[in-house]
Parts: sequence; C-alpha cells; structure tokens
Amino acid sequence: MNILFLSSEVAPFAKTGGLGDVAAALPKALHERGHDVRVFMPLYARIEQAKYRFRSIDALRGLRVVVGPRAFEVSVFAAQLPGSTLEVFFVHCPQLYARPGLYTHDGDEHLRFLVLVYTALEAAQRMRFAPDVLHVNDWQTALAPLILKTRFAWDGAIFGRTRSVLTIHNLNYQGLFPASVLPDTGLLASPHLFHQEQLREGRINSLLHGILYADAVTTVSPTYAREIRSAEYGVGLEGFLRAREKSVFGILNGVDYSVWSPEQDARIPHRYGPDSLQLKEKNKQALLARALLPALPGVPLLGIVSRLSGQKGFDLLPDALGRVLREGRFQVVVQGSGERRLERIFHSLRARFPKQVRFVTKFDDTLAHQVQAAADFFLMPSRYEPCGLTQLYALKYGTVPIVRKTGGLADSVQLWNPRAGTGTGIVFDDYDAKAVHWALEAAFNIYRDRPAYRQLQRNGMAQNFSWALQVQKYEALYAKLH
Ligand code: ADP
Repeated sequence: MNILFLSSEVAPFAKTGGLGDVAAALPKALHERGHDVRVFMPLYARIEQAKYRFRSIDALRGLRVVVGPRAFEVSVFAAQLPGSTLEVFFVHCPQLYARPGLYTHDGDEHLRFLVLVYTALEAAQRMRFAPDVLHVNDWQTALAPLILKTRFAWDGAIFGRTRSVLTIHNLNYQGLFPASVLPDTGLLASPHLFHQEQLREGRINSLLHGILYADAVTTVSPTYAREIRSAEYGVGLEGFLRAREKSVFGILNGVDYSVWSPEQDARIPHRYGPDSLQLKEKNKQALLARALLPALPGVPLLGIVSRLSGQKGFDLLPDALGRVLREGRFQVVVQGSGERRLERIFHSLRARFPKQVRFVTKFDDTLAHQVQAAADFFLMPSRYEPCGLTQLYALKYGTVPIVRKTGGLADSVQLWNPRAGTGTGIVFDDYDAKAVHWALEAAFNIYRDRPAYRQLQRNGMAQNFSWALQVQKYEALYAKLH
C-alpha cells in the first residue's frame, strides 16, 4: 500500500513524548512489511541536521504553498530514519519552524501545522504518489481528512483511493483556536463543514474535525478507546466518539526493540538479558554513582521518566512516596520536566531526602535508557494513560512497573500473583495516595523476596510488544477501509 503519514514529531529527529517514538516505529514497521510509506514532519530548527544526511528533493524545492489568504515558501528535504532504510520528509519553512521548541503559544501555531498538511498533500501530487491511506496523528494534522475531502477532492488520479485514519495519542490536546482562524484553514468555501455550534461560540477544535471526518479513528490502546467514550475520560469529545463508535478502534502501541532492549542497548554501561540480571545491578551502581547517591544495600531503586503533566498522577506522590522514603525503603531517580508545581514536588522530595532522591529535569534520551536499565521498579501512577510506552520499555529491561490500572497500562501490565508466579507488575485501581502507598509497600515486600522478584522480572522480560505484531492490526484496518 501507499501510505502518507503525517506527524508533528518523529524520533530521533524531534520528540517530546510517545508520539515521536510511535511516528518513527510504526512507519518503519510498515516499510519493513513492504509498504511505500512517506512520512512528513516539520523541519524544526532544533533538529541536528549535521547528525543526519539531509538531501533536498529537487521536485519539491521552492514550493509556494497557499493556505487560505497566505502563501509560504517551502522546500522539502529528506533524511533516512536511523536504523532503517525508510526516508522521512521534512517541510522546510523557517518562517514557521525556526523557533526554539517544537510547539509554541504563538499566534500562528495553527498555521505551522496546516502548512505541514498542505505541503504533504501537494508533495504527494508532485511525486505522483497516490496514497491508499492518509494516516494523521493528533490535533496538529487532524484537519487533513477534511482538507483531503474538500480542497484535494478534484484530484482523483492521486487521491481517488485515499482513505484517512486519525490516530489519537492523547485526547487532552485538541488544538483549540478562535473561529477567526477559519480563513487560515483554506476551507472558507465550506464553512458548513465545521462544527456549527462551536463556530457560533467562537472556536474551532482541530481534533474534533479529525474525529468527524477521518474514515477511521484509532487510539493507542483498547482500554483507552473504551474509556474516552465516557465523560470522565472523554474531555468533552465523548459524544462525538460514541457517535462514531463503529469507526473507533484501539490498537496498542508497540516497541521498537532495536532501540529499546537491554541486550543491545549501546546507551547503557552494561548490556544484559534475563539470564544475566546481575549485570542490571551494575547499571544500578553506575547510575547511583552518576547521580551522586550512595549505594544502600537492599534498598530498591525506583525510576520515573516522564513529562511532568497533571495526567501522570504525580500529585499523589508527596504523600505516598514521602511516607516510604521516610521509612528508608526506596531510592528514586526522577527524570522529567513540565509543570512547575510538579517540578516543585520533586525538588522538595530531593531536599527532604538528599541521600535517596535525585531529580533531573533535562530531556536526555541517553539518560532515559540508563534509568530504565538501572531501576528496580518503574512508577506510573497515571490519572489517565492513552498507551504509555515507558512501562513497555521497563518490562523489557526487567524493571518492574508499578502502574495504575488505566488505558494502555491496564492493557500491558498484569498484577503479580505470588501463588501462581504469574503477572508482570504491580497494578492498583484507585486514583489516590493510599493506593500508591499500597503499591509501593507491595513492591518493597516483593523486592525482599529474591526468587519472587526475579520471577516477576523475567515474566516482564518475556513479554513481546513488538511492532511486528501490532503493525498487522493497522494493515488490517487499512485494508478494511477499501
Ligand atoms: P507521553 O507520550 O504521555 O509523554 P509515553 O510513555 O507514551 O508518554 O512516552 C514518553 C516518551 O518520552 C518515552 O520515550 C520516554 O522515554 C520519553 N521521555 C519522557 N521524558 C523524558 C526526558 N525528560 N528525557 C528523555 N526522554 C523522555
């Protein structure tokens, strides 16, 4: 199949979270299955061009992309995705993308991603690439199905067979803009296709229009696909998702094990597998030394690698984690940044327990691998979690996940059953500090029972969340749309 894939981030070029990992690994897996996949993303200023071999595409140089009343000078570059023969296409438009971060609060934020959409569709025309599937991701590219069905409908030779798929990686980011941006969408000829009531109320919700117009909507785990039909998780879009129930699917994300597995991870000091877990211990010692934390025999190390946002449940930690730290039961390495109030929680835990806690705010891929390799447990007390990738990585690294039973966490981690010796982690239900405390106590007790803990680690390491399996579910969905 010909697949046109649009994403605002693709790892390792540019990434702020799970979307970046998925937008690299899924196209890579599709490419390996023989599909012709063309991935488009913005050429952000922060992409280290020198690190990758960028080449310009002659046929796509000096394009004048018209979006509503504006025209943009755009060129397209390509570079190979590391570890693959797949080429990724980059939309070069310094006027829009030469800014410090991937995302901004600037007044033209909507335009930054509309230009990505229009350029990708025009590039398909110029390359004579007729997509069977237009696969878009999150709010940034969610208007693409509507743009395809209106502005590009005339081009039957290229888009006559194209069906669109929107994947929602996180329903909370919806791309809300004032109704005054309507002309900027290039869809002024069809204002009736926008949600009328919201338009009257003065807003346009980008993600909603993807939900309304994509031929299929997917989200990144079966449980999250169910949860978002409810008011509790639907963030105001539950009614629309229920109305499209038959076209909404949950497909669990996979893992690119060539990037995330302790046997072949070049970023960790000591590589190991299920039969050499004593080497995992060495990774722990190395990280503790690097973090200037003392080695405390018998004390498990808890790892956290996460964006610090309300979704992740860290509000529960001052109480629950504070208690077990006071009792000397854990050490913790936290890597993450985001909301100031959440950063303050970890700064304060660090100040209260200097021998036990280390808090690193920088975004550092190498360190993220080292924390996975070093920690004994990995904590994700999420309020909601569309899929979550870090618990999947943790399982592979023999780092026992402690998770709240929600979204993709519920679909990927099973509670340890000491009698049967089954299960892969510690799972709790309630979103409160008491439940987190229970889980941490349970973790500490299992850690002291060496054979049980080893079994639990190995159960997790034996799990297979490879993209090679998950990609077939996308193939089946693509096929069903034709
Ligand atoms: P989300 O998409 O909600 O951020 P996921 O668990 O799906 O959560 O994916 C998070 C990804 O971002 C993982 O690859 C994780 O290792 C990475 N990550 C999060 N914070 C950092 C950080 N500070 N430094 C490096 N990688 C990080």
